[in-house]
Amino acid sequence: TDPTRAEELLKISYDTPFEIRNFVNNSFTTAGDATEFLPVFQPSTGRQFAKLPVTSADAVEKAIDAANVAFKSWSKTTRHQRSQYLRTIAELIQKKREIFAIWESIDQGKTLERARVEVDRAISNFSYFSTYILHEENAARMIDGVALTYEHRSPAGVFGLISPWNMPLYLLTWKIAPCIAFGCTAVAKPSEVTSMSAYLLASVFAEAKLPPGVVNVVFGNGAVTGSALTRSPAIKGISFTGGTATGIQIRRDTASDIGKHLSLELGGKNPTLVFDDVDLEAAVSLAATAAFTNQGEVCLCGSRIYVQQRIYDDFVTRFKTHVSKSFRTKHEVGAIVSLQHYDKVRSYLELAKAEQAVFETGGVPVAKPSEGYWIEPTVLTGVATSSRIMQEEIFGPVVTIAPFDTEDDAVRLANDNPNGLASILLTKDGARMRRVGEQLEAGLVWVNCWLVRELGTPFGGMKASGTGREGGAYSREVFTNVRTLHIPS
Ligand code: NAD
Repeated sequence: TDPTRAEELLKISYDTPFEIRNFVNNSFTTAGDATEFLPVFQPSTGRQFAKLPVTSADAVEKAIDAANVAFKSWSKTTRHQRSQYLRTIAELIQKKREIFAIWESIDQGKTLERARVEVDRAISNFSYFSTYILHEENAARMIDGVALTYEHRSPAGVFGLISPWNMPLYLLTWKIAPCIAFGCTAVAKPSEVTSMSAYLLASVFAEAKLPPGVVNVVFGNGAVTGSALTRSPAIKGISFTGGTATGIQIRRDTASDIGKHLSLELGGKNPTLVFDDVDLEAAVSLAATAAFTNQGEVCLCGSRIYVQQRIYDDFVTRFKTHVSKSFRTKHEVGAIVSLQHYDKVRSYLELAKAEQAVFETGGVPVAKPSEGYWIEPTVLTGVATSSRIMQEEIFGPVVTIAPFDTEDDAVRLANDNPNGLASILLTKDGARMRRVGEQLEAGLVWVNCWLVRELGTPFGGMKASGTGREGGAYSREVFTNVRTLHIPS
């Protein structure tokens, strides 16, 4: 079960599931006094291949202690030293790119092609922050010739880094890379549903000879392991990506610890607005990619498509054809991450049937799948705006299409949702790009594109989609404390 021998792990054994182990102080340990283990299933087959410890609160506290001890020296390393470690980690992931991609696909259900994209983005997370910290500037200002003032930043301490199951490696490294780049240390907890890539990543940290305790990885569920991490007073900050309900719970659990840094990246139910001046084929293709990438399990997926009335019928016809041709189950779309999530997505499709929505493609999947958790990409029309199908995040291969008349209608419909993570705006009209784009209640607005990312731009959501932004200098806000010095002459 030593993940440094990742190649051997590739000989997956369903008969004897291997045990995933915690990584504390650079060694792999059985999870302290874990008495409970969770089965880990391969979504494409529905078979168990590993077991995951539910790390107890006491064992979590030991990992935090390790991170606390490491913080004393790590926070004093130079940015050049830290940069070098991040570069080495990026290179090692690059070397094991295919192993990471295969395991991510086995563990999460995503296609191998999609997994490779995410491994590359994980590498970029480390390379980006390895250079970002070398170019940080900190200008001093003279006030009226009387006092010199400047901002002094220091690493905030030990962080709890908690990630979800949809893009496991990519999202966890989006936290670990800036955390250690800015001089903090970490206890990371990946989702209990998809822990494999974090397990492999831990072996990379050991191989990179990262000082012991700088990054520790504990495995387990939210109720026991995650909650112990967020509630610990020794944790100075939490960077969390996951569901809105969990984000609210973490806010509650940390309410009395007023100084704790909190960055919460939560759920989305993102609109795609298609105006009638678009190139229809290009719009269909972009809207479908935005809906079904990673089988709809991307927080940024456009799952509510609104199309201007004049081109509505034509759009729906072409969209159906495109989806049936380009997003065939098992080829272009992966399996649903878990049986539990399969049941959740299925329940929304049952509801669609009960509400007499039109299934332009797809249908209600079987209740108890015998081999893997597969759901056909599903396009729904005739769904009311007030329906739970339109209001709640389904997080699967399900998209609704509805018409709108005017620009004002489009903005109203787009914003008629508790979430505010991302929006997609398709139009050729330059003035409208700004007029509509600036009214959308979303942290990210993509005009005639989707998922374009530059790692220095602020990433995060409005409304129920979260608190705080991450990326470049925004991540620095999360992981550092700032004090302003005033020195009179
Ligand atoms: P989740 O909230 O159930 O779990 C996320 C993580 O939190 C897991 O590691 C889980 O073990 C942990 N957790 C659960 N309860 C906890 C608690 N009480 N205390 C501490 N930790 C706890 O989310 P999920 O189902 O794994 O992921 C899907 C959600 O993530 C979707 O809502 C999706 O939109 C969201 N997401 C958001 C972004 C973003 O950047 N905004 C990116 C990806 C996914």
